[in-house]
Amino acid sequence: MTIDNYDNSKQDSSKYEVSGTGDGRNGDGGLPLVQCVARARIPTTQGPDIFLHLYSNNRDNKEHLAIVFGEDIRSRSLFRRRQCETQQDRMIRGAYIGKLYPGRTVADEDDRLGLALEFDDSTGELLASKATTWDAHNDTLVRIHSECYTGENAWSARCDCGEQFDRAGRLIACDHEPTSNIKGGNGHGVIVYLRQEGRGIGLGENSRPTTCKT
Ligand SMILES: [Zn+2]
Repeated sequence: MTIDNYDNSKQDSSKYEVSGTGDGRNGDGGLPLVQCVARARIPTTQGPDIFLHLYSNNRDNKEHLAIVFGEDIRSRSLFRRRQCETQQDRMIRGAYIGKLYPGRTVADEDDRLGLALEFDDSTGELLASKATTWDAHNDTLVRIHSECYTGENAWSARCDCGEQFDRAGRLIACDHEPTSNIKGGNGHGVIVYLRQEGRGIGLGENSRPTTCKT
């Protein structure tokens, strides 16, 4: 299997991928074009590791995030093999499987865990498999969250953004929430984190006493 210096000019010429539509790949109208540019594994104080997926898009200069619980929930654009990239390149941008360890050289295979990603050789697209990829037919908890600095980081009681953010994480991580008996994600789920402080008004405006919160 050739895994270094993958060459596919079709993929490289398309910087962004379309989410949710089958046409309009040039971004004229319709939904924004987005591309996952990096993924980082983050240990947490609450138990499970999470993955931060960083996205660029053609609508604003913000780097929006997907906070992903479960390594097997994968980004198609992140994991797609790109022109002339090496396995080292893939590890640097987070397109690897399993866990990194000293001396590891192959992003697409984790020898220690016995896991390997599979790809369509003609397109470079990641192929879903039971061993490596979350089954899309399973229920997946998703929260769309709008950035709120004061609510999330300054313990503000003027809004409940921080509480909602925390609860979303707890629900995704648990099997079920004891107080409500709501079914949790059992370690699988996504918080789409939109970098739009106060729904786009900015931190200065969002900090004014009279501002209606998100
Ligand atoms: Zn808020």
